[in-house]
Amino acid sequence: MKKVNYHTHTYRCGHANGNEEEMIQAAINMGIEDLGMCGHVPLPHYRKHLIYSIPSVRGIRSLAGLVKAFIKNGPSMRMPYKQLEDHLDILRNCQKKYEDQINIYKGFEAEGLEEYYDYYQTLLYEHKVDYLILGHHFHKHCIHSHYYGKEKMTKKDIYLYCNEVEKALETQLFSYLAHPDLFLIGYSDFDLDAQTVTRRICEKAKELNIPLEINAGGMRRGLRKRNHEDIYLYPNTHFWKIASEVGNDVILGFDAHDPSDFNDAMYQQMMKFAQDHELNVIDHFEFLQGNFEKYQAEYDIR
Ligand SMILES: [Zn+2]
Ligand SMILES: [Zn+2]
Repeated sequence: MKKVNYHTHTYRCGHANGNEEEMIQAAINMGIEDLGMCGHVPLPHYRKHLIYSIPSVRGIRSLAGLVKAFIKNGPSMRMPYKQLEDHLDILRNCQKKYEDQINIYKGFEAEGLEEYYDYYQTLLYEHKVDYLILGHHFHKHCIHSHYYGKEKMTKKDIYLYCNEVEKALETQLFSYLAHPDLFLIGYSDFDLDAQTVTRRICEKAKELNIPLEINAGGMRRGLRKRNHEDIYLYPNTHFWKIASEVGNDVILGFDAHDPSDFNDAMYQQMMKFAQDHELNVIDHFEFLQGNFEKYQAEYDIR
């Protein structure tokens, strides 16, 4: 099996280290053959989005995050939109420079925010990127109180996550689902509702033939004591037992935020987790391009 990784951030996201070239060199050094550069998607009109989010802000952490994002027009969550072309230019140059050593693909990790679906579609349609992955971090507004990885998730929150992920996958804009178990960080009992949400997400992905990602980000945070067992916050063992039953395709994602995140120990750890859960690990998947119908006239595509 080839070593691949389609989930690579850079400093441009505002919470990662390493520029495009440093990340690529680190991936080459550990023997990655196919590399997807995949920062948090820069969003146009992001300040407007943030202003619309103001009535939903709850708590000082959300407010501080929103103010910071507004001032910088992007970070600490995502690349500022004005850097998009510069980033893509550098990637195109690296594709040529390193073509004998590694295959580089251009992608973004994007939230299932309906207001941006047209924009995502355009990114794919104009071949600015090769693929998008769904990293559904937020409910409607990109602020901490709407974060699906927050500490206290309610039943309502996890069903919202489930509904939004299902809808987003159906757009065919997203080639795989990153950290599908993010919602379990703050939902500690794997009760009937958590099981239902898990099964629905796994079955929807299976039906659409969209892989799920085992994400190293949670593994790097180590094991946590929860209800008398030591588990990763994600990948969550209970989630992946169900994914194994459903028979989902599974891709390993370093979610690299630093060149040092590319290391064999982490690769082996992810692979062991997958094998322990009898998961079907793949090293290749189709780059989905979205439901183009409504754009066909505009672009005259046949
Ligand atoms: Zn993510
Ligand atoms: Zn990520």
